[in-house]
Amino acid sequence: MKNVKCARCVRCGREYEARPDLTNCACGGILDIVYDYDCVKAALTKEKLAARAERTMWRYRELLPVEENTPDTPLRVGWSPLYEEPRLAELLGIKRLWVKDDGQNPTASLKDRASAMAVAKAWEAGAKTIACSSTGNAASSLAGNAAAAGLKTYIFVPDRAPKGKVAQLMMFGANVISVKGNYEETFKMSAEAIDKYGWYNRNAAINPYLSEGKKTVALEIAEQLGWEMPDYLAISVGDGCTIAGVWKGLKDLYAIGFIDRLPRLISAQSTGCCPINRAIQEGKDWEPMEENTIADSISVGVPRNADKALMAIRESNGLAICVTDEEILAAARLLGRTCGVFGEPAGVTGTAAVKKAVELGLIGREDTVVSVVTGNGLKDVANAIKAAGEPLHIEPDLELMVRGFADRGVTVE
Ligand SMILES: *Cc1c(COP(=O)(O)O)cnc(C)c1O
Ligand SMILES: [Zn+2]
Repeated sequence: MKNVKCARCVRCGREYEARPDLTNCACGGILDIVYDYDCVKAALTKEKLAARAERTMWRYRELLPVEENTPDTPLRVGWSPLYEEPRLAELLGIKRLWVKDDGQNPTASLKDRASAMAVAKAWEAGAKTIACSSTGNAASSLAGNAAAAGLKTYIFVPDRAPKGKVAQLMMFGANVISVKGNYEETFKMSAEAIDKYGWYNRNAAINPYLSEGKKTVALEIAEQLGWEMPDYLAISVGDGCTIAGVWKGLKDLYAIGFIDRLPRLISAQSTGCCPINRAIQEGKDWEPMEENTIADSISVGVPRNADKALMAIRESNGLAICVTDEEILAAARLLGRTCGVFGEPAGVTGTAAVKKAVELGLIGREDTVVSVVTGNGLKDVANAIKAAGEPLHIEPDLELMVRGFADRGVTVE
C-alpha cells in the first residue's frame, strides 16, 4: 500500500507494519492507520474524483488502506443519499439541515462500510472465515457482505438483538450464536472463539481497518456538499468506532486540502447508556454503564473504541448530547413524517440529539448541521410501531372509516 505508512497505537505511539490481520497494540491500545498524505495528494484531485463514475465507497481508494490489486467488494456499499431538509430545519430552528440516509446501504446500515472493508482485508489475508460479535448491524452487514464474497461467517449476538437483524443473519447463511447475556459477554465469547479457531476478526476496535471503512460516510458527505463543511455533524455513538471514523475522514480531507474547515461533532447517546458522553460531560475517563435503551445498536455499556471516540469528540470541540428513549421515538416519527426517512432507534438518535441541542440553546438559528441516519427502521419493526402507533382497525365500511378518523382528529376530505 503506497498510500499507507504504518499503523500507530493511539495510546503509546508504537508503530506497526500495516498487515491485513492487524489487531491491537501490545499495550492494549487501538491502532490507527497512518497515511502518506503527499502520496494521496499526488494521486487524487477533486477533478479526478468528480470524473469517476463509480458510486460506491471504493471511489475513495486513494484514501483507503487496501492494496491496489484488491478487487472492489461485490455489494454496492456507500454513496447513500444526502437530502437537504429545509422543512425539518425550520421545525428544529436551525439554518440548514441535511440528512444522510445510510440506512440505504445493502444490508440497511452504515456498518456495511466497515464490513466491506473487513471482507477486502480478509481477502488480502487469505482468510476463508470471518467472525464478529455485534449488537446486530455489524453482524448482519458482515453476513451479507461475506456471503456475496463467498466467505464463511461465525456471528455472536446478544439474545436481545431485534428479530429483523437476526432474520438477516439467517438469510445470509451465517453461523449464528445467540448468546444468553449482554453485549459485553457476547464480545468476550467471540474473542475466545476467534483466538481458538484463527478466524479473521471483524470486531470493531480490535481491527483498525473498520473505522477506515466507516470514514467513507464523511468523505461522501463532504463531496456531496461540494466540499463546503457544515458547522456540526451529528452521529449516534455505541462502541465509538463510527464517530472516530467520521473524524478520521474529515481530517484526511483537511490534510489533503479538499476542505478548509472541520465541523464540530455532535456525539449522540441515550440517557440509558452513555458512557462516552458522560466522560465528555464530566471531563474524565469513561466508566462502564448499564445497557438500558431501546436503541439496541448503541446500547454499549463497555465501549470498545472509547479512546478514539473521546479523542475525536474532544479534538473537534464537539457536543455530547444524551436523549431519552421517548425523544428517540419522537425523532423517528419526525424524520418519517417530514423527510420520508425511516430510521431504527439508534439510526435516528443523531437527529434526536440535534433537536435536543437546539432546545438546550447549544446550537441555533445560524447553524448548519448534517445528521447521519445510521440504520433503517425496518430492522426493528416493534419499536417503529411503538413510535408511530397502530392504524385504524375497522370493518369494511366507509362510515366507520370517517368516524374512526374523526376520533383521531382527522377530517376525511
Ligand atoms: C453500530 C451503530 C452505531 C454506532 O456505531 P459505533 O461504531 O458502535 O459507535 C450507530 N447506529 C447504528 C444503526 C449502528 O448499527
Ligand atoms: Zn500501544
